[in-house]
Amino acid sequence: MKKLIRKNILNVVSYVAGKPIEETKRELGLRDVIKLASNENSLGVSPKAIEAIRKAASCVNRYPDSQGFYLKKKLAKTLNLASCNIILGNGSDELIDIIIKTFVEDDENIVTADTTFLEYEIIASVNNRKVTKVPLRYFKYDLESIKRSIDKKTKLIFIANPNNPTGTYVTKFELGDFIKELPENVILVLDEAYDTFIDVNDYPSGKNLLKKNKNIIVLKTFSKAFGLAGLRLGYALANAELISYMERVRQPFNINSLAQAAGLAALDDKKFLRKSRLATLEGKRYLYQNLRKLGLAYVPSVANFILIDVGTDCVEFFGKMLKFGVIVRDMKQYGLTNFIRVTIGTKKENERFIKVLMKILRGKEKI
Ligand SMILES: *Cc1c(COP(=O)(O)O)cnc(C)c1O
Repeated sequence: MKKLIRKNILNVVSYVAGKPIEETKRELGLRDVIKLASNENSLGVSPKAIEAIRKAASCVNRYPDSQGFYLKKKLAKTLNLASCNIILGNGSDELIDIIIKTFVEDDENIVTADTTFLEYEIIASVNNRKVTKVPLRYFKYDLESIKRSIDKKTKLIFIANPNNPTGTYVTKFELGDFIKELPENVILVLDEAYDTFIDVNDYPSGKNLLKKNKNIIVLKTFSKAFGLAGLRLGYALANAELISYMERVRQPFNINSLAQAAGLAALDDKKFLRKSRLATLEGKRYLYQNLRKLGLAYVPSVANFILIDVGTDCVEFFGKMLKFGVIVRDMKQYGLTNFIRVTIGTKKENERFIKVLMKILRGKEKI
């Protein structure tokens, strides 16, 4: 059958998602399972969004608004931009695909870090586009090396800021310098999936860079702080002309009507957002403290997850935690074979995670 398949598809490595709760219960015969594997919002869904979904449910016989008129209008107002600066996507994942399809020619390449959101490389490879992967420096995007890796054929640069899976960020100063020397024919994508959780002063908001820089695209998502990962909703911000070409590539009904309704309501629920942010920051302090007590090294994070060095094979470690009903993410696919990534959960979840961690480090195992 292989000769039927496009050559680049033969080499595509599929994305491995965080292990679902139901699957874990089923496979291990467990009743009580927590998932700290996909950086989802552990506080659940905004009650306002749930109400909006309920209301919108009776209209799913109709196609959704292909323009996402009200959602874009509200986003524009919230962000102090215009609707023409916004394109909606079925999660940022789809926008990454749209961006590559809109801008990168057959013989052009994409530059990003070697340890970052895997979807950049996977989606590029599905589209048969080359990716240059630049090593991180102390777990951070190395903008100097990235600059040096740009060649005549480079069209796109992806920077996850903060980075996943490390939780590190590039500063205002570093990014400012980088942009100054960016060639005119290169588009910089700043992926800000975790911006709500930022607790530092020198984080550069991509939105503020748009006015002066015509070739920057900012990616945002409702999957993390807004708690709507299951509905698939993200958006990109850029100058109106870039957006207009991306609109040509977008499928007309990529955002379903429940997602549009929920997104609108979630934007209004400032209380839920504030609660999510505070719970994450508090949980982070708790986890840091206990990781230090356990003598485990971790990478300080400005996002809602922490990369932890468990000092042993991460797949095995993941399996041990799983047996205690705690799903984390092993970092094998990211090439960090001794690391796990844990999403900051509720107080109860964090406590359970630490308890299980302690047991495993003491050599206790569940069979
Ligand atoms: C989680 C995440 C996203 C969000 O993807 P969606 O498709 O919007 O769910 C985007 N970028 C990064 C770096 C992420 O970690």
